[in-house]
Amino acid sequence: MASQNNSGQSGAVSDLVDHLSRLPGIGRKSAERLAFHLLRVHESEAIALADAIRRVRQDVRYCEHCFNLCETTACQICSDPNRDATRLCVVEQPRDLMSLEQSGVYKGLYHVLLGRIAPLDGIGPDQLTIDALVDRVRTGNFVEVIMATNPTVEGDGTSLYVSNLLGEFPVQVTRLARGITAGSILEYANREVIADALTGRQKL
Ligand SMILES: [Zn+2]
Repeated sequence: MASQNNSGQSGAVSDLVDHLSRLPGIGRKSAERLAFHLLRVHESEAIALADAIRRVRQDVRYCEHCFNLCETTACQICSDPNRDATRLCVVEQPRDLMSLEQSGVYKGLYHVLLGRIAPLDGIGPDQLTIDALVDRVRTGNFVEVIMATNPTVEGDGTSLYVSNLLGEFPVQVTRLARGITAGSILEYANREVIADALTGRQKL
């Protein structure tokens, strides 16, 4: 058991606290609480967490078609022949895709941008998967591209930028209806709201 006295933590404990405190939303105090929790739980539980982190970093990658997370070259959705390959839904992050999937309304394909255009954070179109999206629309058989970026200033800007780029192709570009209040994040919206936003989508 590592030393827990006030004069200083063991090297291993302070190392763990350092790593945990770099996680989003975790301050120094929470990091210490988590570290001591991990020392108290059964060893197998703590090791399972370490293994899960290792596996997610070693085995999970981006789908080569849509940039969803997967453990093979193509994700489950892209590999599913029953999905409607004429509709493409564009989201910011894999977690937005998960929210839309949980609503159960949408049966088409997805494209994950891996972010949004955010000039203030120095994120431009080149850092997203927009080129790959344009290529997919150029070579695919899509009739509709649904912009499902978040209803924030940056999400709206990204949606507008992408829809302008897609203007040269014979696809209808639509945007999720504003069932989701402006500013709220797709990730946190409940499934009924998402289902309504999808059904009520409008032409951009
Ligand atoms: Zn995919």
